[in-house]
Amino acid sequence: MLVIGVDGVRFDLLGPEVTPVIWDFGSAGFLGPVPVDETTPTWSGPCWAAIATGCGVDGHGITGNDLTGHRLAENPDFVTVATRAGLPTLLAVSGWPPLALAEDGGPLFAEAGRREFVAISERSLAGWDAADEATTELAASIVTGDGPRVSFVYLGAVDAVGHVLGAGAAYREAARAADQRVGRLLAAVRSRPSCALEGWTVVVVTDHGHLDQGGHGGREPEVATAWAAAAGPGIEPGEPPLITRQTQVAPLVLAALGDIAAR
Ligand SMILES: [Zn+2]
Repeated sequence: MLVIGVDGVRFDLLGPEVTPVIWDFGSAGFLGPVPVDETTPTWSGPCWAAIATGCGVDGHGITGNDLTGHRLAENPDFVTVATRAGLPTLLAVSGWPPLALAEDGGPLFAEAGRREFVAISERSLAGWDAADEATTELAASIVTGDGPRVSFVYLGAVDAVGHVLGAGAAYREAARAADQRVGRLLAAVRSRPSCALEGWTVVVVTDHGHLDQGGHGGREPEVATAWAAAAGPGIEPGEPPLITRQTQVAPLVLAALGDIAAR
């Protein structure tokens, strides 16, 4: 089970030209829009909390990018649930501390067998790109080996570009780079000698979109339309998507965990 979170990628950007890997991956299972719930602010904190816990704001209690005051103890994330179930787990996060560290009210992901955080060495878009690259390299090497059965890998550079430069050429270029990194993570799963026996489910998901001009929006369709793609055992191409709300990601992961535990 691998969940790849790519922050801030607009749904209307997806396609064979900019994101060929994600597009192909979706055709093996599903790829579809996921509207952010009306009660969930279109910010990374509450959106990733919904994805990680399966709860809305009334459950996880996170309304912004400072997670202070959260109710994650009552509603833990799927990596924590898997860790407590005794499965080897990996959390690999690029750049944004509260997902993985005790900063800004975090960590959103409370427990993980292995926790890797790649800090941005230089507060710039190049620094973000380097952090995503290092995170991908590290996570791919860990997933390839005798490693985790449940992983969450987070890439943040696309969102950083969207904030600073808007949804133009540089944003598309960042999405193209993220798509190739998703491809390397997928290849890492496939390279596992026992991949076929292990029955991997993979989810690729974003949290929100962006305004054309950059910066954070609100309920505009290009901001409030996220997306999810998944493929794996029991996910048949051509069937309706199993994820049409952000709170459906964690239940899908946990259902796959039941299958892993039974193997
Ligand atoms: Zn975000």
